[in-house]
Amino acid sequence: MIETQDKQLILGAGFVGLGMAQALKAANIPYDQVDASDDIGGNWHHGVYETAHIISSKTVTEFTHFPMPADYPPFPSARQLHAYLHSFADHFELKAAIELQRCVTHIHPIENNRWQVTFQNGETRIYKGVVLCNGHHWCKRFPDFKGTFTGPILHSKDYHRPSQLQGKRVLVIGGGNSACDIAAEAARVSEKAFLSLRDSVWFIPKSFAGVAVADLAQIWMPEWFQRLITHGIIRLAFGTHASYGLPQPQHRLFEKHPTLNNEVPYYLRHGRITPKPEVDYLEGDRVHFVDGSVETVDLIVCATGFHLAYPFLPPALQRVNGAMVECYGGAFLPDYKGLAFVGWGQARGGVGSLIAAYGPLFARLLQLQDQIAVPLGLVFKQIGTPLPTTHLSDPQQVFRQLYLLRWGWPWLEHRAKGIDRRIGAFANQPLLELGAIALNADPRANALR
Ligand SMILES: Cc1cc2nc3c(=O)[nH]c(=O)nc-3n(C[C@H](O)[C@H](O)[C@H](O)COP(=O)(O)OP(=O)(O)OC[C@H]3O[C@@H](n4cnc5c(N)ncnc54)[C@H](O)[C@@H]3O)c2cc1C
Repeated sequence: MIETQDKQLILGAGFVGLGMAQALKAANIPYDQVDASDDIGGNWHHGVYETAHIISSKTVTEFTHFPMPADYPPFPSARQLHAYLHSFADHFELKAAIELQRCVTHIHPIENNRWQVTFQNGETRIYKGVVLCNGHHWCKRFPDFKGTFTGPILHSKDYHRPSQLQGKRVLVIGGGNSACDIAAEAARVSEKAFLSLRDSVWFIPKSFAGVAVADLAQIWMPEWFQRLITHGIIRLAFGTHASYGLPQPQHRLFEKHPTLNNEVPYYLRHGRITPKPEVDYLEGDRVHFVDGSVETVDLIVCATGFHLAYPFLPPALQRVNGAMVECYGGAFLPDYKGLAFVGWGQARGGVGSLIAAYGPLFARLLQLQDQIAVPLGLVFKQIGTPLPTTHLSDPQQVFRQLYLLRWGWPWLEHRAKGIDRRIGAFANQPLLELGAIALNADPRANALR
């Protein structure tokens, strides 16, 4: 029986955590896995509305080595995704290592390069390393409204089913995928639906000429070429923004996480959604917009995104800068070993194909870390890998980088050992300061309240 101090702890059993668990298991790396929720699957169990369907296609969202069932449609539902993740965990026999309803409240580095993990029930354990797969869709971000509103203001995370919108005058704020899904549902069931956009959005159709648009990108395509094709598709499918009463977006396509949605343009043309600019201020049940228009509404839904947060870490290790983690090689700190931040980035494609490509390399990196004293993050820094400049990425570029890393593995290993010899002894600095768990965490997601 291996003590936990020689194991990795995978925090989270969502899509990413399960993919990492399978990769570690395949590489014979001992690990435990915990999740605060009462079931595996993360967002696809507890974090999306009942009517959600994936936005990326089945082909790019499934783990490449474990395809979704053939009878799944190109855009499966949340329930189907949850069932798929269960079958993935069953197939690779991952469930025995997963402890549910195990909320991690604190993680901090202690002596001997180990990590002390504290759970909500007060239990503590020592691990060799922690792989953070806690997701980035749980710490709600709200706009800073001026004035007061007398009706309810919901975050998209608290929107579960269309009955919440039924018969109401609903204002949805935001231009992302959740905002557009909720606005389309409001268009069907509410008395009136408004969609407030600070900046106009490039609506990309989910499928074009019967093909999922997410499936069109290929590994050889540079981003400019993907942008060109997508512009062509948008133009053919929807025409111009002016024909929907929308201003032209102020950003280039792909500079923001793309909005794949056919329904909002459709309902705009049917008058079931009224486009609005940014909210100026709230006054009772009235919303004033920056163009001077005023609407009376019963419910505001803020689909305004999430903060990236690791509240269980000591402040000194919460290296979050906006939507990015300041880490090297996608996951590693330069001054601490044994802590990995996985799954915080937002690639345009689907999560499964990326994690399937990254997982085995990540496992090799953990094995490499065992052979050297210096942190892997320092190795990546010393060989010239830059800190991330954006949380968004082109999945095709990620696939190319991972391919290069696989191909150049002997070189990386050689450099890592050279850097290790040059720097010599290294030890994590123990930190006594503890993190403070965020209060707006989703209670179903991590049982923090
Ligand atoms: C509406 C919506 C639509 C989406 N559509 C797509 C799509 O089409 N394609 C796509 O690829 N992605 C989509 N996503 C993104 C989605 O988040 C990913 O598919 C995937 O769920 C990310 O997996 P994850 O494991 O990183 O995070 P999560 O699924 O959030 O899992 C994280 C897990 O960590 C656990 N956890 C968190 N904190 C703690 C703690 N302190 N202690 C213990 N456990 C903890 C949580 O309980 C959770 O189970 C969508 C997201 C939303 C909200």
